Amino acid sequence: MNRRDAIKTIAATSAAAMALKSSSLAFAEEAAPAFTLPPLGYGYDALEPHIDTATMKVHHTGHHQAYVTALNTLAGKVPELKSKPIEEILSDLTIIPEDSRTGVRNNLGGHFNHTFFWELMTPGGAKEPAGDLKAAIDAAFGSKDKLIEDVNKAATGRFGSGWAWLVVGKDKKLSVAATPYQDTPHMELAAKPVIGVDVWEHAYYLKHMNKRADYLKAWWTTVNWDKAAENFKKAST
Ligand code: MN
Repeated sequence: MNRRDAIKTIAATSAAAMALKSSSLAFAEEAAPAFTLPPLGYGYDALEPHIDTATMKVHHTGHHQAYVTALNTLAGKVPELKSKPIEEILSDLTIIPEDSRTGVRNNLGGHFNHTFFWELMTPGGAKEPAGDLKAAIDAAFGSKDKLIEDVNKAATGRFGSGWAWLVVGKDKKLSVAATPYQDTPHMELAAKPVIGVDVWEHAYYLKHMNKRADYLKAWWTTVNWDKAAENFKKAST
């Protein structure tokens, strides 16, 4: 290819690229995905050394993205996913047609749980509960340390994959529970989450291997109690 041909080729390629760009933009406007991966709001290395960079990266861009991608596929045939608030669906999965219900349970659950988890682990913020949340924890558990002990017990007792939670129940009281897979507290517990920890092996295996208890110990140091207090307020109203 001589120089003139090369220039022509470049010009043609750029024109094609521009045409493609404008048509894909138009397409994106018409068909924006129903669900998108929320940005973390902090770097993948921000929770080092407690939660390692490699785990954060694969957990966010691999695992969470997979739930989002599956949800967008489901949204093509389940209009409720686009028209109803996430927590309303999680609270009553029977509104989802039966042939899509397990998919929605796993993937909408996974999307909700992980979004909740990233926000709770925000670096910085309060390192201790305060105000109404502290008072409610002291009333229900005696102390923050006892609450942590109870959540860790639920987390290590969860056989296989799942989550451990501090929740506000229908009676507006705090309690600790575990859920399997990507089930959220809204489902069988009819409760709302204040604190939640992912105990799937993908959340800790790269750094802690099979030692779930070591991961839990490290994880608690990343909890932003300001966020937990905000969750508590929202769950209590
Ligand atoms: Mn996870």
